[in-house]
Amino acid sequence: MSEVKEYLYKILVVGDLGTGKTSIIRRYVHNIFSSNYKSTIGVDFALKVIQWSPDIIVRLQLWDIAGQERFGNMTRVYYKEALGAFVVCDVTRQSTFEGVTKWKDDIDQKVNLPNAWGGGRIPVVLLANKSDLVNEGHGQHVNPVEMDELCEKHGFIKWFETSAKDNTNIDDAARFLIQSILSIE
Ligand code: GDP
Ligand code: MG
Repeated sequence: MSEVKEYLYKILVVGDLGTGKTSIIRRYVHNIFSSNYKSTIGVDFALKVIQWSPDIIVRLQLWDIAGQERFGNMTRVYYKEALGAFVVCDVTRQSTFEGVTKWKDDIDQKVNLPNAWGGGRIPVVLLANKSDLVNEGHGQHVNPVEMDELCEKHGFIKWFETSAKDNTNIDDAARFLIQSILSIE
């Protein structure tokens, strides 16, 4: 019989206010969406347990920020021991794409992988959220070539267009991030 391995991964979810960070977490962890969710000020945690394979269990601890987005950065304490991150922007608001590079720089400056893992940058996935609104005539779908360039330039491992409302691509994005963390160790 093979031994079951369990991993606990701290994952940060950052991005400008209103891009859908909390909605993505609620969709991913509880499979719910509401358009008038009121956040409390502070840091929220959500835990998602994933049976990754017959012998690997991954516990994802998702760190949500509430109310501190407007400062555009977080403290080192918040980032401490994170092994991966999502940076979220909103396809209907161009300014949130500018926020993306700021958030990525903040992560790169304040957190590294553990020394035992080589100490490099943690893997970060870019989420362009609210894709459902494009189909309703708001904003526009991202340009894949531009998104690839953005990822290349700022060191995101991949981007996904997501919808917390329609549950599009959120599982895929999480799987990609987990796979990437598992492959570093
Ligand atoms: P946060 O500030 O980044 O945590 O953003 P919230 O999760 O609070 O979302 C801000 C607003 O955008 C809320 O009214 C959400 O219902 C809405 N929202 C979030 N994700 C989506 C999405 O994928 N599609 C649509 N149509 N609305 C979304
Ligand atoms: Mg929130």
